[in-house]
Amino acid sequence: MRPGALILLALLALAAILWVGLRLRRNARRKRLRQTPLAPDLKTVLAHDFPTYSRLPNDMRARLDGLVNQFLDEVRIVGAEDLKVTDGMRAIIAAQACLLIVNRPAVWYDHLSTIYVYPSGYVAKQVSRDGLIVSERRSHRLGESWFRGPLVLSWRDAADGAANDRDGRNVVYHEFAHRLDGRSGAMDGAPLTGDETQANAWARAMQPRFARHQADVEAGAATFLDPYGATNPAEFFAVAVEAFIERAAAFRAEDPELYALFERQLQLSPHEWD
Ligand SMILES: [Zn+2]
Repeated sequence: MRPGALILLALLALAAILWVGLRLRRNARRKRLRQTPLAPDLKTVLAHDFPTYSRLPNDMRARLDGLVNQFLDEVRIVGAEDLKVTDGMRAIIAAQACLLIVNRPAVWYDHLSTIYVYPSGYVAKQVSRDGLIVSERRSHRLGESWFRGPLVLSWRDAADGAANDRDGRNVVYHEFAHRLDGRSGAMDGAPLTGDETQANAWARAMQPRFARHQADVEAGAATFLDPYGATNPAEFFAVAVEAFIERAAAFRAEDPELYALFERQLQLSPHEWD
């Protein structure tokens, strides 16, 4: 073997060792954070400002606490337009985001390093959706999620979503539903990776419901899910996640099959939290 090739091989081996080392260190840190109790002052904030937190089964709440620790360690949550973001505000955002993955230990919000929090509604830079960015331009919920990039939230809407946990409107669930959706490679309302049978079953269930929702909204009929879901399959999935968590019993009564599908996908049974 020529010396050049040997050096290249040695460098590659070194890079691989470094990568594995960093990965092991990160996993150890995550494990420790997930097992660390949440700071009592943050628990108090959550109990007060995010009623769902107190309704969770004890073991789930303990797991959520650990995920919140990890989230706060890995994701920068910064204020925009002079908004001063407190640790309590960060915890409220983190707890809602982590609730969606609390029973899925292998799932994490990869590629999310920063959340920009605006005081209230902000002027979105992008108003289109091209599979890479979704922007919400609604009166009550404002947020924005960039595919594998930063996330933008309005604090007023994030706080309202946490406080009013039975109205089926929650901007944090909504934006993080988009993140879960995007794990499959595109934000298309199909939050699945790999398994083709599962993906087909998902499409068979979702497509006719999305079409019906769209037709109902166009006809001006009352719909169980937010009419905003008629925008496209990604928004349909995101508003369905909001209703799944916050109006679980009604969702289950309205469409038991879809509810069961969401239960399996998210590994959550919110109707049991009452
Ligand atoms: Zn959306």
